[in-house]
Amino acid sequence: MSINQTLIFGHKNPDTDSIMSSMVMANLENQLGNQAKAVRLGNINKETEYVFKYLGIETPELISDVEDGQNVILVDHNESTQSANNLSNAIIKKVVDHHTMNFVAPYQLYYRTEPVGCTSTVLYKMYKEYDIPITKNIATMMLSAIISDTLLFKSPTCTPDDKTIAEKLSKIAEVDINTYGTDLLKAGTDLSDYTPEQVINIDSKLFEKGGKKFKIAQINTADIDSVFKNKVYFEAAINDEIKKDNLDLYVFAATDILNSNSKIISLGNDSGIVEKAYGVTLDDNTAMLENVVSRKKQMLPKILENLD
Ligand code: MG
Ligand code: MG
Ligand code: MG
Repeated sequence: MSINQTLIFGHKNPDTDSIMSSMVMANLENQLGNQAKAVRLGNINKETEYVFKYLGIETPELISDVEDGQNVILVDHNESTQSANNLSNAIIKKVVDHHTMNFVAPYQLYYRTEPVGCTSTVLYKMYKEYDIPITKNIATMMLSAIISDTLLFKSPTCTPDDKTIAEKLSKIAEVDINTYGTDLLKAGTDLSDYTPEQVINIDSKLFEKGGKKFKIAQINTADIDSVFKNKVYFEAAINDEIKKDNLDLYVFAATDILNSNSKIISLGNDSGIVEKAYGVTLDDNTAMLENVVSRKKQMLPKILENLD
């Protein structure tokens, strides 16, 4: 890979927004005359796979490291713990994101973040600002990302901008938002082909604060009880990761996309933090978090507040 060509990627364990926004951003850069290419830092999940099948297009190339001096653009993340290996030796040209900022660069760059539900919502605005046409495929990609990140507008992270833009995109994409969105989210709840180790890594993110390392993993489901039938296997897989990565805390959340609740498993030396953070009592390492669906807005901030 030439280092003149900018590589664009989302976070590790990529979700639909990370994949779609990197492709949408690559198209924007190319339209603006900048050589850029979308790549990915992990496997495509079942929900994202649904979009690729629907559109009949190829998935971006998988990478894990970036070369020294490589030009990169980050989308849907900014924390180095969630990014490509060797990122500190790459040159970050741009960041387009919607997460809490944990980012420093000793040089100038384009940094765009907005408190909205999805990176693609920000990208839609950039397309409009640069007057770049939004094709049917690009619209479908952006719409899929917004539906995924906002859980079809039910997440507290969803803003009026996400909803208005999704409605505009659905017209270009020529889809009914509810039908397409329900099918998309449902595709992501299929765990049948995964081992417990894979399930906990479909969407896990590593965070660090004040010397503490913790992960919050999340999966979507329409049936929490059936997920928890495999609780002992998930616990074994989580304990392995805690040991391997020296984690102080591991929270695994199964989020019910129909009823908007999450049931968690909390393990690690600091597992008790979740009791104070979420106002719950752990029962056999688990607790039900009523009306909690968002890691970014609900799960993570409470843990950060309660870590010392
Ligand atoms: Mg994401
Ligand atoms: Mg996102
Ligand atoms: Mg997510």
